[in-house]
Amino acid sequence: MQTNKTMEHSRFILAGLMGWPVAHSRSPNIHNHWIAEHGLRGAYVLLPVDPANLAQALRALPVLGFAGCNLTIPHKVAAMALVDSVEPAARRIGAINTVVVQPDGSLAGSNTDGFGYIQSLLAEVPNWRADVGPVAVMGAGGAARAVVVSLIEQGAPEIRVCNRSPGKAQQLAVEIGGPVHAVPWQERHGALAGAALLVNTTSQGMSGQPPLDLALDGLPATALVSDLVYVPQDTPLLAAARARGNRCVGGLGMLLHQARPGFAAWFGQMPAVTPALRALVERSL
Ligand code: NAP
Repeated sequence: MQTNKTMEHSRFILAGLMGWPVAHSRSPNIHNHWIAEHGLRGAYVLLPVDPANLAQALRALPVLGFAGCNLTIPHKVAAMALVDSVEPAARRIGAINTVVVQPDGSLAGSNTDGFGYIQSLLAEVPNWRADVGPVAVMGAGGAARAVVVSLIEQGAPEIRVCNRSPGKAQQLAVEIGGPVHAVPWQERHGALAGAALLVNTTSQGMSGQPPLDLALDGLPATALVSDLVYVPQDTPLLAAARARGNRCVGGLGMLLHQARPGFAAWFGQMPAVTPALRALVERSL
């Protein structure tokens, strides 16, 4: 007869990604690579869930034996009201991307995008610090909110947010507060003066989109430049920044690192972002 301990060890662990649509996600590549790497029994599957069925689908997780799931478009905001608890940082961001089924069957929501972002910077620049100077953020969408909250947690002294639609930057500044202030889109070039970090969180520079329209002349050569876009990995913004001597960090690291806390919670082991994982995901881009 199996003891509880051996039963637990032989348990097949399920996790997945709820979205609508989800077919093109790279998350299964990442998590199933880690499952194999750690010699675990389990699977990470795609869960196409119509928004109308989100509440039922989330409540089905414990019933179906899932350890939890990730959430993507369009569920990240709506799911926050449907889980039983939400981590404070995720509440400040206004969205969750990770759900963990608790031992009592309740659902805990968190947002790992900010963790992924900070870890992606540290992976490239180990001595990077948020408190060395102002940050200029282009864009004020969901990704910007996660980046801004994580930069505040890391001690950023001033965060200038520039967004094409001014209302959204102002709303972000009011809701998140602290060192965040909105700068009009037409003044974005000047917002780079004295910045220690520039972040593109807009979709500009993505393949099929025009480059981000931003003149880098006012940006100190010592500033770190990061782009959340990862297709292509070398965006026009990063190429221009590198050509003038700025250190650059692409968006793929964030995608890979944001997956780590969810995997750790579901499968019990904190996975690493290795060159093999990066190569695997690069091949799928
Ligand atoms: P989102 O909520 O839809 O926000 C899109 C942002 O792009 C908004 O600030 C929007 O400004 C801006 N934008 C769109 N078209 C523009 C244009 N023509 N000129 C200037 N700004 C424009 O999307 P999101 O979820 O925040 O994602 C934003 C980007 O980050 C995407 O490229 C996404 O792939 C990337 N991302 C990467 C990761 C990663 O792990 N690396 C994670 C999340 C997101 P308006 O408000 O004016 O429309």
